[in-house]
Amino acid sequence: MPSPRPLRLAVVAGDAKEVGELVLKGYSRPIAAYNSCGLGLKETPEAVADEAEKLLGDNFRAVKLRLGYPTWQEDLAAVRAVRRRIGDGAALMVDYNQALSLAAALERGRMLDDENIDWLEEPIRHDDYAGSARLARELKTPIQIGENFSLVSSMEAALAAGAADYVMPDLERIGGVTGWQRAAALAAEHRLPMSSHLFPEVSAHLLAATPTCHFLEYVDWADRVVREPLRIVDGRAVIPDRPGSGVVWDDKAVERYRV
Ligand SMILES: [Mg+2]
Repeated sequence: MPSPRPLRLAVVAGDAKEVGELVLKGYSRPIAAYNSCGLGLKETPEAVADEAEKLLGDNFRAVKLRLGYPTWQEDLAAVRAVRRRIGDGAALMVDYNQALSLAAALERGRMLDDENIDWLEEPIRHDDYAGSARLARELKTPIQIGENFSLVSSMEAALAAGAADYVMPDLERIGGVTGWQRAAALAAEHRLPMSSHLFPEVSAHLLAATPTCHFLEYVDWADRVVREPLRIVDGRAVIPDRPGSGVVWDDKAVERYRV
């Protein structure tokens, strides 16, 4: 067996000249990913299930569904339609994008507790850590927050409040690679599974160097401007065997989309 390849990220200056190299404490390996390219609110539960099936395709084993329909009955109908379609073997996460009051989150969370949901993401205002802590205590489904952590200090405050079962910092908002590494250490200290938010091309590397690595949020948004889009095989993102982040820009496409 070949020895594991260390993770090396190129460090670039403002003028995009490489000025150094950062070796992450981890090794290149496939990272479990869920498809987050859609599943917004739709007219009917069947339409949601159709899209979930398409997103799962041959390569994924997990998808994320947006909730926050006007009534809890519609939330439940969407979840059940998707679960029926994707089967029990696939992971299903749900995301409220901060849509609920605490009272509504308790009500809808209890209603969803027996629906085999892998996490309940941002049910209430992202910075209501006391409210989120109550949800984490009272609901069976794990509470996921973190895309709105602004620097590691807010993640520290959230974890001190017991506001989450899982965390998913955003590479940009948490403070880049340095912020991510601090966040990963903090998650490890609290023994909380840590996922990523967006930027899958770079986040995959960082998750491979995250002690409590959980899930990569996969979106295909960069596919139009990179030469080789991030590959997902058997539900896992394959970290490319190229220098730095492994991203090779399609210069013509970048030029076309320049504003
Ligand atoms: Mg989210």
